[in-house]
Amino acid sequence: MEPVRTPVVIDLDGLDALIAALRAKGYCVVGPTRSDAAIVYEEIESASELPAGWTEIQEAGSYHLERRDDEARFGYPVGPQSWKRYLLPARVLLWRARRAADGGVDLAEPPAPERPYALLGVRSCDLHAIGVQDRVFLEGAYVERDYALRREHAFLAAVNCGTPGGTCFCTSMGTGPRAEAGFDLSLTELLDGEHRFLVEIGSERGAEVIADVPAREALPTDLGASRQVTDEAAERMGRSLDTLDLRDLLARNLDHPRFEATAERCLTCGNCTLVCPTCFCTSVDDVNVLADGSSERWRRWDSCYSIDYSYIHGGSVRPSARARYRQWLTHKFGTWHDQFGTSGCVGCGRCITWCPVGIDVTEELAAIRATDGEVDHAHA
Ligand code: SF4
Ligand code: SF4
Repeated sequence: MEPVRTPVVIDLDGLDALIAALRAKGYCVVGPTRSDAAIVYEEIESASELPAGWTEIQEAGSYHLERRDDEARFGYPVGPQSWKRYLLPARVLLWRARRAADGGVDLAEPPAPERPYALLGVRSCDLHAIGVQDRVFLEGAYVERDYALRREHAFLAAVNCGTPGGTCFCTSMGTGPRAEAGFDLSLTELLDGEHRFLVEIGSERGAEVIADVPAREALPTDLGASRQVTDEAAERMGRSLDTLDLRDLLARNLDHPRFEATAERCLTCGNCTLVCPTCFCTSVDDVNVLADGSSERWRRWDSCYSIDYSYIHGGSVRPSARARYRQWLTHKFGTWHDQFGTSGCVGCGRCITWCPVGIDVTEELAAIRATDGEVDHAHA
């Protein structure tokens, strides 16, 4: 079949065929699956591994799975993991050096993953998050080699969101729930009548893959049903955030008492940064292997909540929980604009769900806005 660029419809067998087509083209297909009472992203070999009939119930500091009353394959919002697990893994080897026979040094950098990733089920908020990390790692003065290798050939199969969670606020951030760009394929799961998927094609690569999948032409009713899924999702969004002048609001409220009040609850555990799909802070560890005289440099996720992260000669520049919490919030929603031209938040809600004490960025920012200009004299 010739590659097409107009939307098509596939059925449940077609979903399986899509996964098979991606695998046949050499991709490692990573998709949602149920594991340890959560929906996580793992390599899958067939559609039977998708979390059919399960959804996630999310609130500040709480998450559990529940059965749906249908067999939706993508009937959940976003799980605890984000796709950065694959594009920016928690720990990677950057290089290994060995003493050469001639006394010099042999330096080796790991190659790209053997099979490029095909990420299946990427929500619109997470597509935007990948866009944010692309700007950080690919479009600045320095290109992050490992990220570039993983990202260059990654295939993005989005799935429009029909089940926003209690902590989601992508509509406020302008990042969802419908995927508008940045994907190779975008699916909408349609549960009215025949269980099927509208597939929109966003790239030549996407067209080539879908050409190998049994599909029929999309009808106006399929297109309308798809639009209805995301329109209704937008109306059911769990949370909202007033983003008007957020950067300036934070810049003039650095001494707001809310920072101290929230820091008293904050455990500085860093969960919010680890689950956040845009947070990118990392550290490097140098490891010397005495047995063979080689050295390795590893990159690992770090966090602005870690006291050592801002350690410079003489100590940490953010010794208190207040300073570290304020850094995270004001960077994410404020100074990120200065650095990268966008917000650092895509409204996925993970930091709210996975904060063990239920600190909610939408509530915190609303509280600062409501008392704009208050000053914490103890810390000012
Ligand atoms: S805001 Fe919550 S998740 Fe983040 S460091 Fe504090 S306690 Fe941990
Ligand atoms: S700050 Fe929170 S809501 Fe925003 S992108 Fe990060 S995890 Fe998601």
